[in-house]
Amino acid sequence: HLDRIAAVDGEINAFLHVAGEQALSAAKSVDDALGSGQAPASALAGVPLALKDVFTTTDMPTTCGSKILEGWVSPYDATLTTKLREAGIPVLGKTNMDEFAMGSSTENSAYGPTRNPWDTTRIPGGSGGGSAAALASNQAPLAIGTDTGGSIRQPAAVTATVGTKPTYGTVSRFGLVACASSLDQGGPCGRSVLDTALLHEVIAGHDPRDSTSVNAPVRPVVEAARQGASGDLKGVRVGVVKELHSDSYQPGVIASFDAAVAQLTELGAEVVEVSCPNFLHALAAYYLILPSEVSSNLARFDAMRYGMRVDDGNMSADQVMAATRAAGFGKEVKRRIMIGTYALSSGYYDAYYGSALKVRTLIARDFDKAYESVDVLVSPTSPFTPWKLGEKVNDPLAMYLSDLCTLPTNLAGHCAMSVPSGLSADDGLPVGLQIMAPAMADERLYRVGAAYE
Ligand code: GLN
Repeated sequence: HLDRIAAVDGEINAFLHVAGEQALSAAKSVDDALGSGQAPASALAGVPLALKDVFTTTDMPTTCGSKILEGWVSPYDATLTTKLREAGIPVLGKTNMDEFAMGSSTENSAYGPTRNPWDTTRIPGGSGGGSAAALASNQAPLAIGTDTGGSIRQPAAVTATVGTKPTYGTVSRFGLVACASSLDQGGPCGRSVLDTALLHEVIAGHDPRDSTSVNAPVRPVVEAARQGASGDLKGVRVGVVKELHSDSYQPGVIASFDAAVAQLTELGAEVVEVSCPNFLHALAAYYLILPSEVSSNLARFDAMRYGMRVDDGNMSADQVMAATRAAGFGKEVKRRIMIGTYALSSGYYDAYYGSALKVRTLIARDFDKAYESVDVLVSPTSPFTPWKLGEKVNDPLAMYLSDLCTLPTNLAGHCAMSVPSGLSADDGLPVGLQIMAPAMADERLYRVGAAYE
């Protein structure tokens, strides 16, 4: 994999940092342990992985795709990083991402965009485009992403890989640099549903150092993936979300989705249409809640504690903070800090942030009602196949629209997965099928995903 990275990543730009020596030494420890007769630390011991550059690591920099953290090395490992190390999984390096996980194309990285291996003139999705592109170009067999509004699922869809956003609170956020804390969730990415399930079980689990961590056993997702692989979905009730099936989506995406639904029916699933009317307001609610949390979370980058500092020697502390943030943050991050600060300001709080929270509750109720009659919901993962680099950079709203189908799951704290759903008849580019399930029912994703795959 290190050879492959050396050969192709000059063009793809999936990695911000490659840790060859550390990866080889972690691999050697696995070999030594096996050689001395010890049982492997996990089913994935020795299988290398690409880690999104938003999880802290003591032996590599953590930049979150931002200039403001250039060269910063964390004094502690994220819980997820620790779990990877304990499972004997060598970390090949840290992957490119939209700055602080804000974006859908990886073009908001301060370190240049990642290119889609299917067509290097196109975006690999975002914010976790680096992890998805590393998988799709065979630079790593496993990867880690984070999903605040779709950043695992949409990159998976546009690169024909698999990615899961686990139930909120089931993968520790300790050492995951916060974007929007009530939405952020780390999750597994792979090239098959079973690989992804194996990684899911490694990284999930209660963590007393994360106050929103769920104290419950890890869901049996590997068993579910194995069960699903038999291809029998008899007795599984699948709901097609009416509001996520629209003429405004690319025709090739809708055609691929309709074919997927037909295939699920053939596998024995009972498919019905369900209506979730408030999903149509998810985009508006998300793009108030997320910036609000961002404006608060990113206040910690104050030029005193981490990373870069702009200071000509004659500046006050306030001036240093302002100059550093002006130079260190990119355009999209600044845009969201401003929107969030405005939405939270006294006088506007109730009208914007307060209303968005109410919509969030209504979306959760739509899900609850739907899950009274079905086990999983399905939709396209993204309305679009991967677009050309540069096409939407000056039109933030057009960029936000690519998150239409993924946002409701994050707002409700539920789980969802994207699995490859063939190539679009329009342009021959990858399309993803999104499978959604209630909180703490992640195994349903894997059963249906493995049967469909
Ligand atoms: N594309 C979405 C955004 O820009 C989702 C980001 C994410 O999941 N981190 O906010």
